[in-house]
Amino acid sequence: MTRILLTNARLDGGEPRTVAVRDGVIDAVTDQPPAPEPGDHVEDLAGQIVVPGFVDGHCHADKSLWGEPWARRTSEVISMDQMFEDTVAQWAATTTPVATRARAFLGACVAAGSTSIRTFADVAPEIGLEGVEAMLQLRQDMRHLTDLTVVAFPQLGILRKPGTEVLLEEALKLGAHAIGGLDPAGVDGDAIAQLDIVFGLAAKYGVAVDFHMHEDGELGWWLIRRIAERTKALGLQGKVCLCDVFSLADPTPQRLREMGDTLAEAGIAVAVGVHGLLPVPDVRTLHGLGVKMCLGSDSSRSLWSPWGDGDMLSRAMFMAYKCYFRRDEDLEFALRIATTLGRDALGWPRADFRPGDPADLVALPGQALGEVVVSPPKRSLVMKAGRIVARYGKLVGNS
Ligand SMILES: [Zn+2]
Repeated sequence: MTRILLTNARLDGGEPRTVAVRDGVIDAVTDQPPAPEPGDHVEDLAGQIVVPGFVDGHCHADKSLWGEPWARRTSEVISMDQMFEDTVAQWAATTTPVATRARAFLGACVAAGSTSIRTFADVAPEIGLEGVEAMLQLRQDMRHLTDLTVVAFPQLGILRKPGTEVLLEEALKLGAHAIGGLDPAGVDGDAIAQLDIVFGLAAKYGVAVDFHMHEDGELGWWLIRRIAERTKALGLQGKVCLCDVFSLADPTPQRLREMGDTLAEAGIAVAVGVHGLLPVPDVRTLHGLGVKMCLGSDSSRSLWSPWGDGDMLSRAMFMAYKCYFRRDEDLEFALRIATTLGRDALGWPRADFRPGDPADLVALPGQALGEVVVSPPKRSLVMKAGRIVARYGKLVGNS
């Protein structure tokens, strides 16, 4: 395979260096360009910043209406019941196949720099396995663009929707990489029963677990402890992730420490969402307590919400803004949740410019990491597994 030399590349905003890429991985990083070889392809990045490819640890590609005509949204307040109705209505009304919509959305994610993505795929009797099948096919079709992993997700509940448990198991047999849970108490009304089903299937099929958990306050804290117990009992440390953890949003300092210690000890990661109405958890404190975290684009331009575009650098900006990060080290931390820390949280191998690491990277015009977080520039180049797949926000070639 042709060697690619990225010259004048400022890795993580450092001094200009040359990155040699061969056979999909980082070959070497040197202060001076190496001796030329016949067929070298040279990209002079002219001092641009280069960061590892972005990790979207939580998105709903199957729900996105990306590329579709604008859908007028009229619900003023989104309740869980309204969201359930919208989900069923969207699946019934959208004539564009889910695979077509999701491909358009995921293409936009890649063009914005996401080289690793975890997507949820709704599973319910009204929906069947269409979403899971479509996402697994896209994983295959788009493997040269991004690493896509799929969570079989009971968006309408499990006990609340008889027949869902069987479908979830079918989804895992098809190859879904993780099983999702949703508000074990709030939606299903029997938290222990939902936890038993989800963890039972995870143990049976050896897959990861990913819970949406909108229960707040003491109920949320109680659920975290029950999930931690099961995670440890089944040896699933490092394979469980919680998202939309409302109980983490504004606990007392002492409770936050207890929660952080419990999550860290059980090896449970948190996917940080950035929601308009809710405070972002105290990510610096949680990180200090050893909690692994990733960032997610969550629902993007769905029937529920017009917001979101799959751009993880913008997501890091929103997170940093809501946390009122001002110091550069905090802004850099926000970026790392969207890159290296996110990979670690989801158990993906490191990809941060060591020889042999996957050559997944993004080039960004800018002076400093803090600057690109507060003012996200266009991604001038996105490389996936040693191949340039996007330039200035557009996929290249026949990607
Ligand atoms: Zn979600």
